[in-house]
Amino acid sequence: MSDEANPFESLQSQIDDAAAHLDVGDDVIERLKHPERVLETNLTIERDDGDLERFKAFRSQFNGDRGPYKGGIRYHPGVSRDEVKALSGWMTYKTAIVDIPLGGGKGGIIVDPDDYSESELERLTRSFAKELRPMVGEDRDVPAPDVNTGQREMNWIKDTYETLENTSEPGVVTGKALDSGGSEGRVDATGRSTVIAAREAFDYLDKDLEGATVAVQGYGNAGWIAARLIDEMGATVVAASDSSGGIYNPDGFDPVAAKDHKNETGSVVGFEGGEEEITNDDVLTLDVDLLIPAALENAIDADLAEAVEADVISEAANGPLTPAADEVLEDKDVFVIPDILANAGGVTVSYFEWVQNRQRFYWSEQRVNEELEGIIVDAFDALVESYEEHDLENPRTAAYVVAVQRVADAFEEAGSWP
Ligand code: NAD
Repeated sequence: MSDEANPFESLQSQIDDAAAHLDVGDDVIERLKHPERVLETNLTIERDDGDLERFKAFRSQFNGDRGPYKGGIRYHPGVSRDEVKALSGWMTYKTAIVDIPLGGGKGGIIVDPDDYSESELERLTRSFAKELRPMVGEDRDVPAPDVNTGQREMNWIKDTYETLENTSEPGVVTGKALDSGGSEGRVDATGRSTVIAAREAFDYLDKDLEGATVAVQGYGNAGWIAARLIDEMGATVVAASDSSGGIYNPDGFDPVAAKDHKNETGSVVGFEGGEEEITNDDVLTLDVDLLIPAALENAIDADLAEAVEADVISEAANGPLTPAADEVLEDKDVFVIPDILANAGGVTVSYFEWVQNRQRFYWSEQRVNEELEGIIVDAFDALVESYEEHDLENPRTAAYVVAVQRVADAFEEAGSWP
């Protein structure tokens, strides 16, 4: 992974690229390039052995012009203030491109959860929830899972908030377990939008998805679900990787069996269906029809982009390409479906979860998947319309043109406030 790009600068350059095609004032664009506020806090918890340990944590509320801030909470040693700011900005434009009435936020704790027991992680999560309490709520800011967090952490946050507020407000977080007010279809949602967007792109480019070869970088929630669903659509998954390395089989393998292997051993490496062990970088540069980066940001820099041979990239991860890589891929005519659309299934079904929580009325999985399908297809159509109408250099800029315009409109329509 390259460290050449600061993700916050990447976000700002993406907004600038879009602004060049928009009739929106520089002063408004300036607002749309910075978070409204960022909480930086130090959490001190007791370890199981009685020692105290301090952790730095952040929550960035980037933009609330279109609705409550919305975005995940990440537990990772690489979390930084700039990373959280960037991710919260991407959330803002993600909720805008899929046109759901939410803004953008993101949070994170600098921690490697593998080094801590479940009870330590519970104390850490509840401590963060206590700090977040004044700034979150179903009409203020609605956190969700991200890397290394899931239903368990969301249930703890909900319980902490509801206990402190003496209320029942399941919509304060999304990505909860079903029994705690979660939605059917949430776990699969990010991978599902990644493959719906890929299917639409193949259709737009007149390419056949049946039999198309696919490589997936990162075999966590987003990556493995995308692998399973694209396989169900008739494509052939030939490669996958996780933080321990990659596997490759030119004839394809069963993505579910690869996941079972990962569940048993902790990695896809060593899975018998993957004929060859290859490096993480090899997975990104295979000659495949579709590449799905589903790990972390900056996975592909300009050098690696030179070696990329995929025709289409559907970004399950947030910010997996550096801006320099984007330029290289544009020159090579690779069709990149941007993260803000490709992985928007997660936030879209989070939105459905929030709606269901507020209505206290729960939908079937079929309804969730149908509504998601409609939203992603509409967003892809809006992207293509902007791509063609403005004769844009790449689909990412097309998505930002639509999204930045929508946020700018909401801001300007609200009028000024002293
Ligand atoms: P996860 O923790 O479930 O999975 C991450 C995977 O990436 C793991 O398999 C890990 O081993 C692998 N990985 C880490 N470093 C790697 C490397 N250098 N090479 C190859 N693999 C590597 O996380 P997730 O929820 O699947 O999120 C993955 C990405 O998708 C993140 O960028 C996240 O922001 C984005 N995303 C997730 C959701 C969601 O709903 N889960 C929604 C939108 C975006």
